[in-house]
Amino acid sequence: MLNLSVLLEDSARRFPDRDALILGDARMTYADLDARSNQVANLLMSCGIEPGDKVALSCPNIPQFPVVYYGILKAGAVVVPLNVLLKDREIAYHLADSDAKAYLCYDGTPDLPMGEYGRSAFTQSPHCRSMFRITTDPDAPATIDGIGTLADAVADRDAEVETVVREPGDTAVILYTSGTTGKPKGAELTHANMVLNALTANRLFDSTPATHDRYLVTLPLFHSFGQTVTLNAGISVGATLVLLPRFEAAAALDLIERENITVFAGVPTMYWGLLGALDEHPADIDRIAGNMRLAISGGAALPVEILTRFADRFGVQILEGYGLSETSPLATFSDPGGDPRPGSIGVPVWGIEARLVDKDWNTVTGAGDIGEIALRGHNIMKGYYNRPDATAEVLRDGWFRTGDLARVDDDGFYYIVDRAKDLIVRGGFNVYPREIEEVLLGHDAISLAAVVGVPDDSHGEEIKAYVILEPGARVTADEVIAWAKQQMASYKYPRTVEFVTTLPMTATGKILKRELGRAPAAL
Ligand code: AMP
Repeated sequence: MLNLSVLLEDSARRFPDRDALILGDARMTYADLDARSNQVANLLMSCGIEPGDKVALSCPNIPQFPVVYYGILKAGAVVVPLNVLLKDREIAYHLADSDAKAYLCYDGTPDLPMGEYGRSAFTQSPHCRSMFRITTDPDAPATIDGIGTLADAVADRDAEVETVVREPGDTAVILYTSGTTGKPKGAELTHANMVLNALTANRLFDSTPATHDRYLVTLPLFHSFGQTVTLNAGISVGATLVLLPRFEAAAALDLIERENITVFAGVPTMYWGLLGALDEHPADIDRIAGNMRLAISGGAALPVEILTRFADRFGVQILEGYGLSETSPLATFSDPGGDPRPGSIGVPVWGIEARLVDKDWNTVTGAGDIGEIALRGHNIMKGYYNRPDATAEVLRDGWFRTGDLARVDDDGFYYIVDRAKDLIVRGGFNVYPREIEEVLLGHDAISLAAVVGVPDDSHGEEIKAYVILEPGARVTADEVIAWAKQQMASYKYPRTVEFVTTLPMTATGKILKRELGRAPAAL
């Protein structure tokens, strides 16, 4: 019997007075975090939330994220974290698709705005009965459109709760991802998946209560990388999490120095940003990062150039991990203490098996051959929520096929070669071209669209749309871009649009994206 919230409960018992969370000048101890999450659990149960119900959470990296996250779990409910940049139309889709019964949404302030507030999404959602606004401004109105604040709702709740115990195989979290096809799908991760993956991370990082690490937490907590590797792993060893809601390289460097950060986890473009900020303001690096003992990269391929430059400047070897939302996410990791293998995603982590497969699930055996990475072990999701067909496509006999193409060397180190799927990773955010193409096709003037990632210095990849217009239609590229910007979260809309009269196609009519920009490789 298990509940992911045990990670917090255990640390709160052992280190009640330690700082769990720091944001600016505000601090929250473990005892306080535990008590506040108890109040949230009590509130949710009083709203009729029952074990197994889904509760959606849309909140940036502020203390309320962990408070609500563990509160939902303590009530025995399932957390559905949403990307904070989603617009109303997208929020409505996620609330309906996950059958969310309650929705907690950060209000947004001028300093830290939200993609959209989500009230109309809430009113359209068939199962969603309760909504609370998460506010940080003490002068925020008590209600907006009849929706009250979380702070008011929990004010006189009991700070003790009897956590609802769940089975290890029960779903703890549903993480939305597009997987290999267009529409976002909810990957159902169990309590066992999430607990084991966090504990595995700590084992690899040599993190223990005695190391009393101080994490810079700037990877979004709604995403699996930040959630497991910084939040759950950190909380389980009584680490202090220093929150930086929006990554900005100079601010990150400042916090690394001021808060004596020992662990930094980020996507490659964040490392690129830190190096750039350091070049702009040459400083005594021992003073800034003298305490840093661990740097972890994941989410996208880490260019060897960044790895080398970071080791030179910061004196810390970046360790690279690989995984997906569907794998909790940690699946492979650099061999800590072993030889650095630049360009490699390392070896499968403890308890996880990997192999390379062809499109029929046969193992690819030839030395140096490329195949799709398949994984099996305690980190693999139960399946996509309410999508048996999509689940059957990727899960077979406990093996999960990732859509990533790789080769493996004689020592068992894996190297990602390309992505079999269409994913574009823009500044650490995943963008799925088909989703964008479907929206573009909703524009009256657009007849056909193909979206690809093109190389970009600051974001790694940038989004480009090739568009064929309807005959006689007149619209400019800027107008299409402006329209697209209104339809979707800001990290998704195309930054360039090129009008073409034909698109390269295969014999079966599939657009040959390889000829347009960076494109998925075929097996
Ligand atoms: P997500 O489900 O958002 O975590 O995205 C997972 C995808 O990110 C994987 O399928 C990979 O394509 C990509 N990814 C994650 N880690 C790495 C890595 N270390 N190197 C290359 N690609 C990665």
